Amino acid sequence: MPTSTQTTVAERLNACIRDVPDFPQPGILFKDITPVFLDWQLCSDIADELISRLATKPDAVCVVESRGFFIGMLLANKLRIPLVPVRKKGKLPAETRAFTYTLEYGTATLEIHKGVIQKGWNVLIHDDVLATGGTAVAAAELVREEGGTIAGFAFIVELSFLHGKEKIASYTSQIESVISY
Ligand code: AMP
Repeated sequence: MPTSTQTTVAERLNACIRDVPDFPQPGILFKDITPVFLDWQLCSDIADELISRLATKPDAVCVVESRGFFIGMLLANKLRIPLVPVRKKGKLPAETRAFTYTLEYGTATLEIHKGVIQKGWNVLIHDDVLATGGTAVAAAELVREEGGTIAGFAFIVELSFLHGKEKIASYTSQIESVISY
């Protein structure tokens, strides 16, 4: 337990997150995590914090383009497990499986390389921010369709007022974020 003179990972993270109003569109308060990457120790501690909460060691970590890639690689490396990227449509070069989901305006499609997730793998899904949960659901569905199970979700930030957790609660009870707003 931290003493009163020590700051927690969440407190240090909170001090580094930059709020950018009206990005990428009016009315959105964007949580910019790029200042976090200037502090290598904090990045490492964020990964350790998320890993410390996992009930079981996953077989792989599935990371969502693009801001999920940064801490996602640290998670995979520290856990010594494979990293599997989920990318926006048209970015992955080999044969892919796609999942299309609804956004506030229009749709989005995420893809995963076919045959990378091994049958029965228990996969941790990581992204930087949990907002409405649509992206996390898409990643989870791709993992499941490829034969994996969902070990948990690990986010840097949760925007709890958007209730994304409710959307992904049916996959697993292991839903972690370092900080929640
Ligand atoms: P979601 O609504 O949970 O599907 O979030 C969609 C994606 O957009 C996630 O990968 C987040 O990284 C990103 N995102 C959504 N809302 C925000 C926000 N307010 N600040 C930063 N990133 C966001």
